[in-house]
Amino acid sequence: MKAPTISDVCRCLEVEYGDPGWWPAETPFEVAVGAILTQRASWRNVELAIESLRNAGSLTPAGLLRARREELEQLIRPVGFYRQKTRYLLEFASFIDRDHDGNITSLSRMTASEVRKELLRLPGIGPETADSILLYALGFPTFVVDAYTMRLLERMGIDAGEGYESVKKSFEDSLDGDCSMMARAHALIVVHCKSRCKSTPVCNGCPFIESCISEAEKQK
Ligand code: SF4
Repeated sequence: MKAPTISDVCRCLEVEYGDPGWWPAETPFEVAVGAILTQRASWRNVELAIESLRNAGSLTPAGLLRARREELEQLIRPVGFYRQKTRYLLEFASFIDRDHDGNITSLSRMTASEVRKELLRLPGIGPETADSILLYALGFPTFVVDAYTMRLLERMGIDAGEGYESVKKSFEDSLDGDCSMMARAHALIVVHCKSRCKSTPVCNGCPFIESCISEAEKQK
């Protein structure tokens, strides 16, 4: 059986689930805060933390830097690792405040790889978080790879290369650098893997049931 291509999979997910409207946020800085807080946390808890930061007037670089560290720790407590994540938020806010006039959108004047390099120097920002900020906060055509992406590729028998950077490039090439498609595709994979392609997959009714290697293996 021939595995489907990445673009086939993305198109099929779009037909199945529609536009997930991701990332939900009022400002680009809020996207970045969410991307930092969501590591090892459920989105529900991230929403609670973001709402608390908003109500406290701390959802801007200046607002974060004005607040007392202990107060911030309590505001984001629901996301876990709250001391560490408070430090990450403050480092990120200082970077925007010090190097970019307090305005995250000024990063859009640089190239994607320059911004990525700067973000990856900050504590608590790895490739997935950096790419989430690039794509969803700044509108750069970059793909966000996560554990769900890896799971789906493996189960469907799609060879997108080894490791984060190769998989990212395979998606970017397959989706022709289309920024809004990349934004939808990442979110659609998350939706699919949370609803059907879970650790124990619910294959019945899956749009890939005919083409999925994993499903075909089960039938043998
Ligand atoms: S058929 Fe099953 S294993 Fe394959 S993508 Fe669908 S849910 Fe996942």
